[in-house]
Amino acid sequence: MELLQERIRKDGVIKSGNVLKVDSFLNHQMDIELINEIGKEFKRIFAECPINKILTIEASGIGIACLTAQYFNVPVVFAKKAQSINIDGAVYSAKIESFTHKKTYDVIVSKKFISPEDRILIIDDFLANGCALAGLIDIVKSAGASVEGIGIVIEKGFQNGGEMIRNMGIRLESLAIVESMNAENSTIEFRK
Ligand code: 5GP
Repeated sequence: MELLQERIRKDGVIKSGNVLKVDSFLNHQMDIELINEIGKEFKRIFAECPINKILTIEASGIGIACLTAQYFNVPVVFAKKAQSINIDGAVYSAKIESFTHKKTYDVIVSKKFISPEDRILIIDDFLANGCALAGLIDIVKSAGASVEGIGIVIEKGFQNGGEMIRNMGIRLESLAIVESMNAENSTIEFRK
């Protein structure tokens, strides 16, 4: 997506440790006009899929998922980061290792909000090593529902998450794939 790539080049900040900061338009301050275009693009890409629900993870995925959901006319469910899992069996849960915070946490989704007939589009802001997505896919599978596709705003193509998810046979579409980035001279290359 050209508009997104231009914006990443203009306002993205490359940090050490392979982290790309996009705080000024996606992860802290949010450019709603841009995110709305992102939502439209996901709709265009997944137009033929019988999606009835969007699943994302708090916090950064929520805004993107909501603006996308308007074009699908479907509800958004977001996985919550939990301090402790309640053991009454009312939730689906998965363990996720955070790329940016380097710690492991549990995410939960109430069993009330995903059921076997659901055909789910997973949306998230970034794809790095694929741990967050693997957790969300796990939750969908535990519910007996199906993953129709995954929409990612920025994939870091030099990390292994994209390959892992595509090898699972799941349709993964990323609007910008960063092939390489260099913190020293602030350069960024996108996959064609
Ligand atoms: P993964 O689980 O694929 O390793 O990492 C995905 C999650 O980590 C995303 O939901 C995102 O919040 C965060 N993340 C990973 N890499 C980056 C990055 O370079 N920049 C930012 N802002 N977040 C990232």
